[in-house]
Amino acid sequence: MNGQKLDTILDFHARLAEKAAETKDLHKLVESLISETVKYMNAASGSIMVYDEQSNSLKLYVSSHHPAHKSQKSGLVAEIPVKEGIAGKVFESGRPIVVENAAETNIKAKLRRKDDNGSFLSIPLKISKKLIGVMNLNRSASQAGFTTNDLTRLRAVDTIIASLIEKETLLDALEENRREIAGLYEISSILSEANDFTGRLEEFLKKLSSELGLERLAILKIDRTLDHSGKSDKDIKFDILAAHNLKPTLLQRMFRSVSARMQMQLSQSHGMLSAEPEVLRPPTLSFEEKDGSIRELFCIPLLVEGQPSHVLLVSRRYLDEDTKQAGKHYRFLYLVSQNLSMAIERENMLRLISEDQDLLYRTNQRNLYFLDISKDLTSTLDPYTILQKAFNNFNKIIGFTTISILLFDDIENSYRLIVQPDEAVSVGYQKKLTQQIFNLFSDFPADPPLTQANFSKPIFFKPQTHLSRPAPDYKHTLHLPIVIGDKVRGLIHLARRTNEPFSTNDLDSTSQFTGIFITSIKNALIHKRTEKLAFTDPLTELFNHRYFQETLSHEFTRAKRYNKPLSLMLIDIDFFKKFNDTYGHLVGDKVLRHVATVFNKSVREQIDTVARYGGEEFAVILPETSIEGATRFAERIRAAVEESRVIDEDRKLSVTLSIGVACTKITNCEKPSDLIEASDIALYKAKDTGRNRVTTFKESRLKNA
Ligand code: GH3
Ligand code: MG
Ligand code: MG
Repeated sequence: MNGQKLDTILDFHARLAEKAAETKDLHKLVESLISETVKYMNAASGSIMVYDEQSNSLKLYVSSHHPAHKSQKSGLVAEIPVKEGIAGKVFESGRPIVVENAAETNIKAKLRRKDDNGSFLSIPLKISKKLIGVMNLNRSASQAGFTTNDLTRLRAVDTIIASLIEKETLLDALEENRREIAGLYEISSILSEANDFTGRLEEFLKKLSSELGLERLAILKIDRTLDHSGKSDKDIKFDILAAHNLKPTLLQRMFRSVSARMQMQLSQSHGMLSAEPEVLRPPTLSFEEKDGSIRELFCIPLLVEGQPSHVLLVSRRYLDEDTKQAGKHYRFLYLVSQNLSMAIERENMLRLISEDQDLLYRTNQRNLYFLDISKDLTSTLDPYTILQKAFNNFNKIIGFTTISILLFDDIENSYRLIVQPDEAVSVGYQKKLTQQIFNLFSDFPADPPLTQANFSKPIFFKPQTHLSRPAPDYKHTLHLPIVIGDKVRGLIHLARRTNEPFSTNDLDSTSQFTGIFITSIKNALIHKRTEKLAFTDPLTELFNHRYFQETLSHEFTRAKRYNKPLSLMLIDIDFFKKFNDTYGHLVGDKVLRHVATVFNKSVREQIDTVARYGGEEFAVILPETSIEGATRFAERIRAAVEESRVIDEDRKLSVTLSIGVACTKITNCEKPSDLIEASDIALYKAKDTGRNRVTTFKESRLKNA
């Protein structure tokens, strides 16, 4: 190599280095490179063509002084198939071609100006033996033709040209990759936002739709039956997790058209999902829209916890034959679907955790309520009150409108139904519910079996009223047999008016409740009965003297504490002895029972206490009643008895009463017996002043007090 040549080479590299320092744009650099090369080689024009794998052709990359720059209409072929023309030949063979005079050669040069008969040189560009393209140089007819010497000169620069081009292509690919990853990141980040999951999925689909030009999208959870390939398409059920631009009916239609294919795909999905994204390109189906236009439809299985339980269903307009772009989309969808699977998996996990927490909380809450109920049960309250409290607490645990408990009572040898409705219910409704429970329980193998004969009158808690409107039907009920020992001995029945079905958790709670409180319920029944026996006067079935004393003492304390009036009536039948003497004791007894019935009809149920004080004397305790109220009340009873008749065979006997009334607000009473004494004094006064009358004790103090 002579000195001049070396100079030009050094010059060439120096200028290239200068350009490289000036610009970061590799493409610009390659452009200057070709123009420097044209200068360096004394050429009229030059170009670089780069091989494109996708289209298997050489594409014009850059050119310098090429006529195409002056007029696009000249015969420039920007893209030629690999085997065509001189460039194609050079690329195919990997060997340079030198044409000293184009006019004298028979090679058809596609990239040549038609009118040119100058000289022509084309060399392959290689990076470590891999062909990446071709460089062409032209000289005009007026210039000296290219020789093999020129080839040698060109060797000094061809590697640097090739490496610059390769570098730029790589950078392009990297940039493309970076853009893809950035897009993926942006879309996937929607999935981890804080709002509700469905909202996030919808947002995600929307974004995906705009990013990839997808028309309709849906994320579906596929029913398990899919795992078993024996099922037909119709059997595939799915839940819609989220959808974009898709109504359920259309979704159904789309799903049906894709499901057979999908089933096949899912059955192979294990292999498919681990395959390369390029291989994964999902099979597409044609889908006809309502307007008759055709869409491309495909679904991507989503592996959640290792199972292809979800799919991403997508439709779009058919793309033009840009297969490279379509490939990228599929790849992007594939990558995004992996993030989607992960998001669904994470969401499922979060839901499980929060469900666990809920369950823990509820169980804890339930135990607290049960503890409360247990505490109540050990208190000395009336067992029915305890039971009501237990029901109320239990209601806080699972929520119901009515609780009914049917239980066999060994002592009374009958089934007893206790009902606590949420509100006062009509008698008609009570009958209906009672009948329902009766029918329900008849189906159980109860021991003893339930019959009309061993079914006692039901007890309804809460006041009973007649409702004008018909009792609304319950929407949901739950019932469980009560098993004692190994015998079905009853039934617990819950009814709910709200549209919320009972859950298995509710069933568990009910079973637990029944287990814990069955003894209490039994005790309540027994207690009530023994209490009744202990406090009832067997002849009149009124409360007995002992109960009277206990109640009076209890009410006396309460009245004092709350500073409320407490009144007491003492009633004595006038000339009762006469009945015994004239008609015998049995008639006397009948008279006693008769007045007891009249009393019961006259008093306020559950407020006033009517007791047989002794012999033919009775007492009525009237809490929170003034002397005026008590006197009016006494007068009403007196009149009612006077108007009534005791029927004995063909006789109609009249009875009259004398009544003494006293009130703690009138007379200062230190103890319950003071009130009795005051009433007693009034009663004697009634007898003294002619009987069949009511007398009030008006003194503020008892004389002997
Ligand atoms: P007065 O108008 O003064 O009250 O006259 P009376 O006859 O009602 O009063 P007295 O106290 O003299 O009589 C009460 C009688 O009631 C005495 C007793 O034999 C009778 N006696 C008490 N307990 C019963 C009972 O359980 N059955 C019957 N048949 N008589 C009873
Ligand atoms: Mg008497
Ligand atoms: Mg009497």
